[in-house]
Amino acid sequence: MEKEIKKMHDSELVKVLKMKVGEEKKLVAEILRYLEEVNRRRLFVEYGTPSMFKFCTRILGYSEAETALRIKAMRVTKIVPKALEKVKNNEVTLSGLASLQTFLAQNPAANGAQTLDLICGKSARETEKILGELSDNPPPRQLKVNLPERVLKKLEKLQDDFIGCNELEILEALIDERLREKAAAKPVRVERGSKFQRHVSRTSKQMLLARAQGQCEGIVGEGAKRQRCEARVHLQFDHIRPIAAGGGGSVDNLQLLCSACNQRKLMSKLNQVNSQTFYGKVIEFESSRIGVP
Ligand SMILES: [Zn+2]
Repeated sequence: MEKEIKKMHDSELVKVLKMKVGEEKKLVAEILRYLEEVNRRRLFVEYGTPSMFKFCTRILGYSEAETALRIKAMRVTKIVPKALEKVKNNEVTLSGLASLQTFLAQNPAANGAQTLDLICGKSARETEKILGELSDNPPPRQLKVNLPERVLKKLEKLQDDFIGCNELEILEALIDERLREKAAAKPVRVERGSKFQRHVSRTSKQMLLARAQGQCEGIVGEGAKRQRCEARVHLQFDHIRPIAAGGGGSVDNLQLLCSACNQRKLMSKLNQVNSQTFYGKVIEFESSRIGVP
């Protein structure tokens, strides 16, 4: 098989892969049906396991996460039999069914079949949104993020400024600060196609990205603590001297700034504070927002 796959043409590879995924979906639907039957016969007891959950992990070898999804999905197929067909046709995923099961458990009066139709073909996020809107008691939105050591260290450095605050409170305070700045500063809009439209060529962008090595080129801190900003996200191409003031789109006149540095530059200009120096150059107010991957 290994040899066969390596020899396959690209189009054939994808064609066969799609076919296999189709088979996988059919198999998933079948497995749900088998699980339901094992559950109905309470066969898990005969296998020395106290629950379907333990049966799936100990006897079938599924992980806990895999088991949770399948058992929730299985419960939906019991209430809404057509869910099996939807899984088979790749119209709904196991996690979609799991979300539906949670919803139906919390909203016993809801119509399972109708709700299933609403979430078919929807992404996980869309599904959560739809179910949240339909729910009698919509759960508050939540985004769980794992902060890596690198970010935690940065937050630690801010502890002195936010005494008694935990990481979440510090982050929220920083976001609030940024939102206040944003509300105070009205961004300059440049009409598309106007003579002031700033074009940055692909080559310039590539050269700039190489020079900046994917890191903000802003300078932060005062006096002896002045150092290059460490931000690597939300980077924007920025014109050091505005096009309208004779600046061009060449690399010499460009810098990579994170949104915070860009905002600071903008604020300093708006507040008529002495121009800050970034990368050894006097910064003037103007920037072009171009997404950097
Ligand atoms: Zn920065």
